[in-house]
Amino acid sequence: MTNLHRLSIRELSEGLQQGKFSSRELTQHYLKRIEKIDAQVKSYVTVTPELALSQADAADAAIKAGNAIALAGIPLAHKDIFCTQGVRTSAGSKMLDNFISPYDATVVTKAKAAGLVTLGKVNMDEFAMGSTSESSYYGATKNPWNLDYVPGGSSGGSAAVVAADLAPFATGTDTGGSIRQPASFCGLTGLKPTYGRVSRFGIIAFASSLDQAGPMARSAEDCAYLMNVIAGHDAKDSTSVDKEVDNYVANLNATSVKGLRIGIPKQYFNVAGLAADVKARVEESLKKLEDMGAILVEVDLNMVEAYVPTYYLIAPAEASSNLSRYDGVRYGYRCENPVDLMDLYKRSRSEGFGEEVKRRILIGTYALSAGYYDAYYVKAQKVRRLIQQDFLKAFEQVDVIAAPSAPTTAYKIGANLSPTEMYLGDVYTLAVNLAGLPAINAPVGLDDHNLPVGLQLIGNYWSESQLLSIVHQYQQNTDFHTQRAAIAEENA
Ligand code: GLN
Repeated sequence: MTNLHRLSIRELSEGLQQGKFSSRELTQHYLKRIEKIDAQVKSYVTVTPELALSQADAADAAIKAGNAIALAGIPLAHKDIFCTQGVRTSAGSKMLDNFISPYDATVVTKAKAAGLVTLGKVNMDEFAMGSTSESSYYGATKNPWNLDYVPGGSSGGSAAVVAADLAPFATGTDTGGSIRQPASFCGLTGLKPTYGRVSRFGIIAFASSLDQAGPMARSAEDCAYLMNVIAGHDAKDSTSVDKEVDNYVANLNATSVKGLRIGIPKQYFNVAGLAADVKARVEESLKKLEDMGAILVEVDLNMVEAYVPTYYLIAPAEASSNLSRYDGVRYGYRCENPVDLMDLYKRSRSEGFGEEVKRRILIGTYALSAGYYDAYYVKAQKVRRLIQQDFLKAFEQVDVIAAPSAPTTAYKIGANLSPTEMYLGDVYTLAVNLAGLPAINAPVGLDDHNLPVGLQLIGNYWSESQLLSIVHQYQQNTDFHTQRAAIAEENA
């Protein structure tokens, strides 16, 4: 079979269980595609063929013995922020270029237990700080729709591997949009779950009160399969919530779009910088949902102007604290010939971190310093609460809230946006993390450069099933999610 990379997760599972192809064949098929195509896309930081084939053989044996679980033998790529035992885990940084993790993240453990096959680790912005994946120590990943453009970030590698058919699905993390924005830029479905739904154990920390892992795939159905694997309580993560997990696959048709109240925050559609094409595609998708029976309701979200400044205080503050562990002593990069301990610290950190990471450490350290803590950090925390309350008020009127995932489609590689320009591009995603809510991106068409546009649906706490179900039904009635990136078409 030559088109194994075109099959959905459900089709892959059925094909494997029915013996139409083996996991070894499927895994080799992907490894060959990676070898052939990834030099152009540059999405993998590390490919793990030996690990993948041994996991594939184990899955094949389990399938033969008749005791394999549903997803056994299906390949998966992990963002290089998830610790993987015995495999380099770099977080896109020179600081961790030599770091071989001694343990697995819980998400990785769960993927292994489900019989999924690890193809490798994929590129990302350094320590997940960025929106283009260009800040990676390993260089920029290309957008499979047009190699002159970025795939978004920080989970740009995760988006690129799926869009280029170099993995059927991938894990990502989202601190301020890093699942939804690259999914939007690459024409994918990506879900950022409620804070606490997926364990953060073994995920290299960026901003601990905002970080959350989730699935990136071609469709809501494919995302639902991965959510069934990774969601759930974990005693090793004190912020993980002990709450029953839905069967996301079984619930794919459980939400009725008929009568569903979709909130349209008018402030979101008046943001300066919202591209006309993006606005048009998003509005068309809302019209489609209306045709399917949804009711569009105008709602107020009044804090839009506070999103970027609030996030860009809280996230760097937490990052500056989390990144203090990289001191050149215990693991990671160490400078050559330090003259004393201070020199070791200073040079290891100066040489090991990139520019954006240093900028965040400086902002964060400043905001947390004794004289400024109340004026900046404490104030930002208060505004964060107001942002959350604004959403909760809106959810008294509506079931979900619709917005673009990003004000534009993908940027050109090397566009060299100033930091503030780049931060403003996150305006639609940041508040969801500040409030801890779940949200999903769905592809809803292309702009006039043939680059994908994404619709974002934001749900109330623990509404992952509902979000996946709405997008699934939208995808049953439209074919935007089946459109393929140029490089995938060329290598069909
Ligand atoms: N672009 C945002 C940032 O740079 C979000 C990144 C993320 O979600 N990891 O912080």
